[in-house]
Amino acid sequence: MQKKTLIQSLYTASSRVSAPLLTLSGLVKHHCLLCHNTSQGRICEFCEQQFLTIPTHCCHCCGLPLEYEVSHCGECIKNKPAFDNTVIPYLYQAPLSTMIRHFKENHHFIAGKTLSQLFVTYIENYYQYRPLPQLLVPVPLHWKKQWRRGFNQAIFFSVHLSDRLNIPILKKAKRIKYSNDQKYLNKKQRQKNLSHYFSLNTTLTTPHVAIIDDVVTTGSTTNALAKVLKQSGAKKVTVWALARTPKEMQ
Ligand SMILES: [Zn+2]
Ligand SMILES: [Zn+2]
Repeated sequence: MQKKTLIQSLYTASSRVSAPLLTLSGLVKHHCLLCHNTSQGRICEFCEQQFLTIPTHCCHCCGLPLEYEVSHCGECIKNKPAFDNTVIPYLYQAPLSTMIRHFKENHHFIAGKTLSQLFVTYIENYYQYRPLPQLLVPVPLHWKKQWRRGFNQAIFFSVHLSDRLNIPILKKAKRIKYSNDQKYLNKKQRQKNLSHYFSLNTTLTTPHVAIIDDVVTTGSTTNALAKVLKQSGAKKVTVWALARTPKEMQ
């Protein structure tokens, strides 16, 4: 199926997201959120295969896809971020990007829950033989932005991650100054826009903390928050996000 058709389907399908179908065999079937074909899950196997995963060669610190097998990208070597590593399953590209936007902008919570399940499954597999962080910190939105949007997508994902992995969530981090919309700014402007924009009035007693976000673009937001977490006592900060924007789209 063409990409355009998938995207169009997502928007038109929102009005048709109906109750699951109970087939004669008794198996529950759904309409795929993207192509609207019947499917075992909320996204059919074909559409899930269209989600581009992060390539094997990527920066160990910021998760940026790299052409060669090296441990860190030039940017992380030049200016080491305050976070230590990132765990991100997908590239921020259609049709996944469309689904994330639809969840955030149109409050499509079925899409949000489906994305959460993909996120949690990836994290569970990744940490099968690795020690998990002991605290989840969703990236806070400024209260004005959260009021306008009606919810914070990072908290939405954190709740699902916390339930499945049994890790507490810390919601005390605050975005203390309203910043312009990041998507219209370049990397330098983003860093300037974000400096000192987070506060955390507590001391962390858990050494390993995970920042939760939906999409990492340049890493400026997560870096600003990671700085505050380290200043508050965290020894290791890992970034968990559902998707990473490739360099050419930043
Ligand atoms: Zn589908
Ligand atoms: Zn990097």
